[in-house]
Amino acid sequence: MSVLSTCSAGGAEIAIPIDVPATATEASAGYTVKEAWVRVPEPLSKELMEAHKQAIIKQLRAQNAALVAHYYVAPELQDLALETGGCVGDSLEMARIGREHPASTLIVAGVRFMGETAKILSPDKRVLMPDLEANCSLDLGCPPDEFSAFCDAHPERTVVVYANTSAEVKARADWVVTSSIALEIVTYLHQQGKKILWGPDRHLGRYIQQETGADMLMWQGSCTVHNEFKAQELLALKQQYPEAKVLVHPESNAEVIALADVVGSTSRLIQAVTALDASTYIVATDQGILHAMRQQAPDKSFIAAPTAGTSATCKSCAFCPWMAMNDLVGIRHCLEAGSGEIHLDPHLAAAAAKPIDRMLDFAAAHKKQIRASGDLSQDMHLFAKLGPA
Ligand code: SF4
Repeated sequence: MSVLSTCSAGGAEIAIPIDVPATATEASAGYTVKEAWVRVPEPLSKELMEAHKQAIIKQLRAQNAALVAHYYVAPELQDLALETGGCVGDSLEMARIGREHPASTLIVAGVRFMGETAKILSPDKRVLMPDLEANCSLDLGCPPDEFSAFCDAHPERTVVVYANTSAEVKARADWVVTSSIALEIVTYLHQQGKKILWGPDRHLGRYIQQETGADMLMWQGSCTVHNEFKAQELLALKQQYPEAKVLVHPESNAEVIALADVVGSTSRLIQAVTALDASTYIVATDQGILHAMRQQAPDKSFIAAPTAGTSATCKSCAFCPWMAMNDLVGIRHCLEAGSGEIHLDPHLAAAAAKPIDRMLDFAAAHKKQIRASGDLSQDMHLFAKLGPA
């Protein structure tokens, strides 16, 4: 198996490109890309890693805690989550499993909105994060007051927001979606004749608009990591590996998506490596996903999609700097010190819970192969808790 990257600062090791200019959007709140990379912890020796793991296992047991990790965090965190009865997943799976898990404390290894979502869905649980400043460029680029004004200007539209947003933005929404359920929910709303106001990721929004034909007004956010994939270089790589299948996350730009064999959420892309016959895959999403892909298909080869080329700035090199802020030291520290706790105003959390619950109810029904008919009177069974927005 091999992992190749044409990115000079990427590859198997996490590089720290600190000479990165911040854009106005990225600098709107919290850490910029540059600041986040500076906070990415140094790699640990094997001995230190083992010592921290043992201390974490002890604390997880003592505190009835579970580690909930995203596919983009470091391999040792994903492995530890699974070894200790926690979970690894995309943001929808993290939200659902965190809510259902019997633990009284959740340690969320991911980015801030994932910790907030866990707290919204599990208000009676203590939710800790290794670093509360681990944010997301989509969240940072969607300030609640500006987004709320955008919604106010278009009251006739159903507000659908991607999960990568603050609790305040979620509370303003009718629906929250993740990339694993967005197509189905927008299809459903389109069948209802709803016009949609979408935020914050414009690439995912454009992809969904193209697939569903829905009337969607877009907030103009984007993901720093997925913005970096380059279509021309990807095309050249495809020609070099004509047998390879191209797997693309829909936060990537339209030209990159157009070259994909499979477009989907992290979970769908991982499933694709076992569902397809190909032995080689070019992967356009955060390289943290390759760990789960290797585990699912150990005999197959994976090539990171190019983030370098004539138009490249290589801000991320296919590694999310905020995800990379999670490490064993931070997890041990938040468990031992009780630090990094997510606190949300109960009224805000209750308001944000409604559109998330709506999504989870829809997702549960969808998993059971219950498809929306488009007739509202027949579809109430899809919404166990709240009814459609
Ligand atoms: S990879 Fe992109 S969308 Fe995901 S957390 Fe990082 S910045 Fe946000």
